Amino acid sequence: MRELVCIVCPRGCHMKVDDELNVTGNFCPRGAEYARAELTHPTRVVTSTVRLEGGEYRRCPVKTSAPIPRELIPRLMETLSSVTARAPVRVGQVLIPNVLDTGADILVTREIDEA
Ligand code: SF4
Repeated sequence: MRELVCIVCPRGCHMKVDDELNVTGNFCPRGAEYARAELTHPTRVVTSTVRLEGGEYRRCPVKTSAPIPRELIPRLMETLSSVTARAPVRVGQVLIPNVLDTGADILVTREIDEA
């Protein structure tokens, strides 16, 4: 039996999952879906920053456009540390398409103008 807290919405249901992936404690079906995915193939939306040149700030906030496999997060962070964006950048701008062949893009999450 595994216990976990659903992170799909702010209600934060406390759930239990047995060896056959039967879920209890979830208020809605999204919790069961999350619990099964978390125990079989955990994924996360990743937020971070990359270096920025020529802008008002030295770093640019970014995130993945979709959840990626949790085991790829260390490689993703290495990839992001080697990227330098150039101002201006706009919200939703794709900095890296299909990062690590995940199908997710790296997107800018803040408008930053040229300095
Ligand atoms: S199970 Fe449903 S209601 Fe409960 S936290 Fe998850 S999404 Fe929200």
